[in-house]
Amino acid sequence: MSTACNGMSEHHFLCSICLEVLNDPVTTPCGHNFCKTCISTCWDTSTTSKCPVCNQVFSTKPQLKVNIMMRELVSQFRRESERKITCIYILYYCICHSVLYATLCKLCVIVQTKI
Ligand SMILES: [Zn+2]
Ligand SMILES: [Zn+2]
Repeated sequence: MSTACNGMSEHHFLCSICLEVLNDPVTTPCGHNFCKTCISTCWDTSTTSKCPVCNQVFSTKPQLKVNIMMRELVSQFRRESERKITCIYILYYCICHSVLYATLCKLCVIVQTKI
């Protein structure tokens, strides 16, 4: 069963080289996204320019331009996930039951954790 998803999956915004959220995303001719620095370093240190994901070899090193639309999506995603991360750490102490419980802020009440 799939859990509630707000349409944006982290997976789409991850660089396959550093496994972090894309930083200055560039798109290769085969359609894969990488951080500009990651893919540049990768191609600078090897003799062939190929895509680390699908292994497509490019006879000439493709011109890498930052994908503006992707960058917008990534920064939007970053803002969303930062908000979520902050929310996870909101802890409340219940005096009656002497327990700590976590809750999400009102903006993120998608999944309520009850202990
Ligand atoms: Zn990267
Ligand atoms: Zn590829």
